[in-house]
Amino acid sequence: MKSRYALFAVLVLATACGGGQETYASIVDKAKNDKKLVIGVKADQPGLGLRTPDGAFAGFDIEVARYVAKELGVEPANITFKETVSANREAFLEQGQVDMVVATYSITDARKQKVSFAGPYFVAGQDLLVRADESALTGPEALNGKKLCSVAGSTPAQKVKSEYAKEVQLQEERTYSACVDRVLGGQLDALTTDNVILAGYAAQHAGKLKVVGKPFSTEKYGIGLRKDDTAGRKAVNDALQKMFSDGSWTKALQASVGASGFALPQAPQLERY
Ligand code: GLU
Repeated sequence: MKSRYALFAVLVLATACGGGQETYASIVDKAKNDKKLVIGVKADQPGLGLRTPDGAFAGFDIEVARYVAKELGVEPANITFKETVSANREAFLEQGQVDMVVATYSITDARKQKVSFAGPYFVAGQDLLVRADESALTGPEALNGKKLCSVAGSTPAQKVKSEYAKEVQLQEERTYSACVDRVLGGQLDALTTDNVILAGYAAQHAGKLKVVGKPFSTEKYGIGLRKDDTAGRKAVNDALQKMFSDGSWTKALQASVGASGFALPQAPQLERY
């Protein structure tokens, strides 16, 4: 009798959580049993995470996601990429809307309160993107009185608010591409986020936009997982280690970010915790 109630409770829980998505303790079990994964990625960042006109996704984060998924036992065809923006990545993981996030996602202590990270698999730095004819805005020290764009829920927006709030007027958009449009249109003076993201936009709008090139933060990109998924973190770190050492990481970086002219770094050290 007791076990029948237990079974009933499990069924109710599974239904309430949307078809059983929440019933796995680790992404490792989800991948092994379902053979499919939902992965949160950016959709408007050329070279990193971009939705192409045919609806497919391309970029370095996409390649990393595919490699890791494959190591977990999930074929590329069985991945559903779901667009995330900077502000909803933690919530998407917490709510089980995605199984993992590969989306230029910096590992921070604040975010570690809500999600877990494997990685880092790339290290970027906050920089500025300005119009090509801009000569006064040469670095963060020249931001005084400028109109700056960044994205809500991102570490660069947070840094501007905590360190440059007195000098600059910050406009927070939902996506970086919205910022790009506003800088191109002349309503705002600069976009601030990670240099590797900015390089993609500068290449997309060659002759119109340029990256200042003086990074002023360290952004370690991690793969976001549900909080306390220790087995998942280990398996994803193992997959990343393999991607670094078998040459796939360098190949993927060259093929995706290389075209922007961004100086390609070596693979970073994983920080297993
Ligand atoms: N890496 C930074 C962050 O996680 C900026 C890029 C982004 O917003 O995706 O907030």
